Order: sequence, then C-alpha cells, then structure tokens
Amino acid sequence: GRPALLRRDFVSVSEEKSPHQPFRVMQWNSLAQALGEGMDSFTRCPPEALNWPERKYMILEEILTYQPDILCLQEVDHYFDTFQPLLVPLGYQGSFCPKPWSLCLNVANNNGPDGCVLFFRCDRFQLRGISHLQLSAMGLKTNQVAIVATLCCRATGQVFCIAVTHLKARSGWKDLRTAQGDDLLCKLQSISRKAAISTTGSDTCVPILVCGDFNAEPSEVIYHLFATSTLGLDSAYKHLSPDGQTEPAYTTWKIRSSGESCHTLDYVWYSRDHFSVRAVLDFPTAEQIGPNRLPSYSYPSDHLSLVCDFSFSHLPE
Ligand code: NDP
Ligand code: CA
Repeated sequence: GRPALLRRDFVSVSEEKSPHQPFRVMQWNSLAQALGEGMDSFTRCPPEALNWPERKYMILEEILTYQPDILCLQEVDHYFDTFQPLLVPLGYQGSFCPKPWSLCLNVANNNGPDGCVLFFRCDRFQLRGISHLQLSAMGLKTNQVAIVATLCCRATGQVFCIAVTHLKARSGWKDLRTAQGDDLLCKLQSISRKAAISTTGSDTCVPILVCGDFNAEPSEVIYHLFATSTLGLDSAYKHLSPDGQTEPAYTTWKIRSSGESCHTLDYVWYSRDHFSVRAVLDFPTAEQIGPNRLPSYSYPSDHLSLVCDFSFSHLPE
C-alpha cells in the first residue's frame, strides 16, 4: 500500500478564553491536475503519485483531516466534477472563479481552466455577498483572479470579508504581483466598507481575511504592502515562529527539471484588531517531506496547506 499522508500537529498560539468556538481556515494551492501532469515536470515525483483517480482522494483526505470551516484553494481544475460534488453534500457552499487564460488549457486532455475556489460551512456562515475579481495592473486586466465573499457568522452575528487569490508566478514578475496585490487591497477596502455600511451603518470596514498563493517571498514589495496597509492586516503563520515575527522557512518545496525550489509564498492575512489566532497547523520537517520533496505519495501538492484557528476579538453588541 501507499504511505499515509504527512501527519502534522496544531501548535497552540493563544490560550485566551472566548465564549465562542474558534473557526478554522485552510489555505492551499492544491496543484492543478493538468499542470502537475503536463507542465511542472516534477522529476522526483513518481508519475503514479499524480494519477488523478487516486490523487483526488489524497486531496480530499487532507481537507477532511482538518475539517476547515472556510477552505481557500488555488489551481483547482476539477471544481464541477470533483470538489463541488464531494464537498457540497458534506455541508459546504462553494464558488469557483476560473482564470481567464489558464495555462491548463495548453495541456493535452485538460479538464478546463484552473482557478480560485472558496468553500465555507453553511451551518457556521451565511453568505451576504460575493465578487469574482479579475485583478488589474496599471489599469489593465491581468490573468490573475480573486474571490471576495462577505460572510455572517451565524453564532455571533459578526460580518467579515474573506478573499482568496493566486498572484502571478515566476521570478521577473515582481512588479506585476505588486500591482495585482495593490489592486486587491483597494477592492477589499471598498467591499469591506460597503459591508460595514450595510451592516452597522458606520463608515468603517468589516474585518478581513485574505488567503492566497502570493508567489512572493516575505522580502517582496507586495508582502510589505499587505503588512503595512491601512486595513491593519497581519500574517497568521508568523505565530508559528519562536519570536512571532518570522514567516515559515517554506510553504512549497519541489524539484523540477530546472532544479530544486523551496520558498515561502502562501499566506493567511487577518485583521489584527478583529481576529485572534488561536492555533496554527505546524509544517512537516525536511526529513518528513523526504529527499524527493513534493508532491509525493505522502502529499498530493507541491504546496503545503496552511490551517489556522481564529476567534473574533470583539463581538457585535
Ligand atoms: P503564471 O506565470 O502566473 O503561471 C500560471 C501557472 O503556472 C501557475 O499556476 C504557476 O504555479 C504555474 N507555474 C509557474 N512556474 C511553473 C513551471 N516552471 N512549470 C509549471 N508550472 C509553473 O502564468 P499566467 O497565468 O500569467 O499565464 C499562463 C499562461 O497563459 C501564459 O504562459 C500564456 O501562455 C497564457 N496566456 C495567454 C494569454 C492570451 O491572451 N491567450 C494571456 C495571458 C497568458 P505556482 O503559482 O504554483 O508557481
Ligand atoms: Ca503550481
């Protein structure tokens, strides 16, 4: 038989008591099937580990192991035939925003474009509004997208926005990523203000969560823009580090024909004044990942999932 999925443990970040159950968010670039088989050339990954009829159950196992209340995915090219029919009967509501010109379409026998996906548990949240955004740069539409949903927590009445995005890949495209992220920040501000006006009548912003494969290391300008924006965002996975200030050493680790690539590119941002991070799922060590890196028989994507438990710091009167 094949090895078990990589086992990971939650690290508690804050012991503070809250009368309400925390909610769990998962951020994951789950690897488009067409790209994994037809574009990536993961030279050390056995082709059988990428076989979709089995890999789809490894992806589902990763999701169901952690049971997120909110699930943010990138590179989904099997939404209508796999993710939606599997997750909707389990109590999730979902939305798929395909990329305008997905690279998947260049692969023989592809299953359609890849894109961003948002799922949330219907018993915990009610959908108040949703936007599918095509991100702009210098006033021009680009090939990168985002979903922004406004959700209301059924237990507390708290309204907040959740965004999922996948910014432009590859080195040499930093300026485009920066412009796209800046555009997302601007659109988020507008959507979260509208949500505040219609919820409380006050001209402020509702709390925000942003999950994404930013394709940017913490040293890039776009990371700095998110960390210092007027939206008051902080990056949840910094809480995993001993000093609470440092991003993980990697969120993706792969070996392509072009070489080994180990980077921190994926983030979960949250409004620091409105949410508190209760726990984060630890990353596997280099040894656990193994010398052939990712994906593998033990893990179905080249990106690791980021899973965080949040609670609301203040609740509506
Ligand atoms: P990106 O550079 O953002 O990459 C798209 C995808 O490719 C990402 O999912 C990325 O994964 C993955 N990727 C990155 N590096 C590699 C690699 N070395 N091997 C395999 N996959 C990789 O591309 P765009 O979305 O901007 O454009 C995609 C393609 O679409 C273009 O290359 C072009 O051919 C076409 N295009 C066509 C247009 C048209 O008018 N017809 C317009 C624009 C684009 P990850 O994020 O995990 O790194
Ligand atoms: Ca990829």
